[in-house]
Amino acid sequence: MISFTHDVPPQRVVFAVGAILRTPEEAERLNFSHALIVATPGSGARLGQKVVDLLGARAAGLHAQAVLHVPKAIAVVGLEAARAASADGLVAVGGGAAIGLAKAIARDTGLAILAVPTTYSGSEATPIFGLTDGERKITGRDAKVLPRTIIYDPDLTLGLPAAVSAASGLNAIAHCVEAFWADGRTPVTLALASEAMRRFAKNLQAVVANGTDASARAECLIAAWLAGTVLAAGTGLHHKLAHVLGGLGLPHAETHAIILPHVMRFNLAAAPAAKARLGEALGSGDPADAIAAMLHQFPIPQRLRDVGFDPGRIDFVAAEIAAAKITSPRPASADDVRALLAAAY
Ligand code: NAD
Repeated sequence: MISFTHDVPPQRVVFAVGAILRTPEEAERLNFSHALIVATPGSGARLGQKVVDLLGARAAGLHAQAVLHVPKAIAVVGLEAARAASADGLVAVGGGAAIGLAKAIARDTGLAILAVPTTYSGSEATPIFGLTDGERKITGRDAKVLPRTIIYDPDLTLGLPAAVSAASGLNAIAHCVEAFWADGRTPVTLALASEAMRRFAKNLQAVVANGTDASARAECLIAAWLAGTVLAAGTGLHHKLAHVLGGLGLPHAETHAIILPHVMRFNLAAAPAAKARLGEALGSGDPADAIAAMLHQFPIPQRLRDVGFDPGRIDFVAAEIAAAKITSPRPASADDVRALLAAAY
C-alpha cells in the first residue's frame, strides 16, 4: 500500500518581471528594520548594492563575501558581520552560494531570510543547509533556514552566463530526478517534479543558447522554484555523491551535471515508475540519454577529469557512499560507485 507524509514548510513567493522593486515592501512585511544583504563578490555585489539602495534605511549593509559550498570560516565571518551590524533580518541576493551563507547565519541567529535568487539551483526553496569543513561537506535540515519569502524576478537572470544557466539548470533537474525515487516522495512532490522537468525540457536549451530569451528565462525560473521545493522529499545516491565530491573541492553545479546521466543510467534500471515519469516529461524513451545529450550541448565541463577530480580519490568516495547505505531505488555498493565514477571520469 502507498504511504507518505507530506511535510513541506510554507513560503511566500512573489514572481514578476521587475519584482526586485518590491523588496522594500516584502522586507517590511517581515518586520526587517535593519537587514544585512548577503551576496557573492563581483556581479553579485553589484546586485546586492542595488538592493541596499532600494531598502534605504532598512538596510544594515552589504556583506558580499559568499563563497561556494560555504566554508566554515566564511560562515563565521558572515555571522560576525550580522552581529556587528545588529541585523534583524537577512536578504540573500544571488545564487546558491549567497543563499547558503544567509542560511548559515540564520541557523545560528534565528534571523529570517528574504531570498532574491538569480540562478536555477533552488536553494531558496529548501530547509536544507550545507557547510564545508576541510574535505567534508556537512548538510542538514532546519526549518529556521528556509527563506520566509522568495522574490523571483526573471529580469535578474537575463545576464546569467550560459555556463551558469546550464550548470545550475542541470543541478535543478537533478533535484527532480531524485524526487522520482526519493523515499519521502508524495503525490505532490511527484507532480511538481514532473512539471519542473517539463518546463526545463522545453526551455533550458533555449536560455543556454540565448540568455536574453525573456519568456524561456521566466519558465526556467518557475521550474527552478518547483525543483527546489521537491528537494524536501529527500535525496539519494546522486546528491550524496555530489556532496562528497563537493567536499573534495569540486564545483557544485558542474559536478551535479557531469554525474547525473551516469546515476540515472544506474538507478533507472531499478526504477521503472521514475523512468516512465521522466521519459514523459522529457519526451524520450531513454531519459538518461536525453540528459546526456543535453549536457553534451552545453558549454560546461563534461567529465570529472575536466573539473580536476583526482582518480586516486575514487576509493575514498566509494567508501563514503557505501557507508551511507542508500537503498532507494537500489543499493549502491562501493564497487558500483567505483564503476560509476570511472565512467564519469
Ligand atoms: P553560485 O551561487 O555559486 O553562482 C555561480 C556564479 O554565478 C557566481 O560567480 C555568481 O556570482 C554568478 N551569478 C549568480 N547569479 C548571477 C546573475 N544573475 N548574473 C550574473 N552572474 C550571476 O551557483 P549556484 O549553482 O546557484 O549555487 C551553488 C551553491 O548552492 C552550492 O554551494 C550548493 O551546495 C548550494 N545549493 C544548496 C541547495 C540547498 O538546498 N541547500 C540546493 C542547491 C544548491
